[in-house]
Amino acid sequence: MPYDYDDQNIFAKILRGEIPNNTVMETEHTLAFNDIHAQAPVHVLVIPKGPYVTYDHFALAASEAEIVDFTRVCGRICAAAGIQPGEGGQGYRTISNAGEAAVQEVPHYHLHILAGRPLGRMLQKVG
Ligand code: 5GP
Repeated sequence: MPYDYDDQNIFAKILRGEIPNNTVMETEHTLAFNDIHAQAPVHVLVIPKGPYVTYDHFALAASEAEIVDFTRVCGRICAAAGIQPGEGGQGYRTISNAGEAAVQEVPHYHLHILAGRPLGRMLQKVG
């Protein structure tokens, strides 16, 4: 089973209200909240409310309504935070870690939105 969702993961607990979060935005299908260990002045995690493990899982299995809602929330967060390049902001980075090679810590699909400081190049060479 390539997408075996573990409903005991920390974001599932946040969605069930078992663990508090600092909500940035919430819609019917999507929740966005601040990362507990922020790595930049803006560090928001955007998650679908549905049980998706990774970006590819979400992209393949979510409904169009969920995908549109998620994407619009990301755009609205960028606009609300004033980080859009060309709109007076300094830009941002979105990251989604999937699986072992990317060191995904929480097995519920999430998009990191990072901004508010120079973010360097996308990847560092290892070895
Ligand atoms: P990943 O490595 O899976 O892409 O990122 C998981 C992120 O979730 C990390 O940046 C980590 O700081 C964040 N995180 C882990 N547990 C919690 C939590 O309980 N609350 C919040 N707000 N963020 C969390």
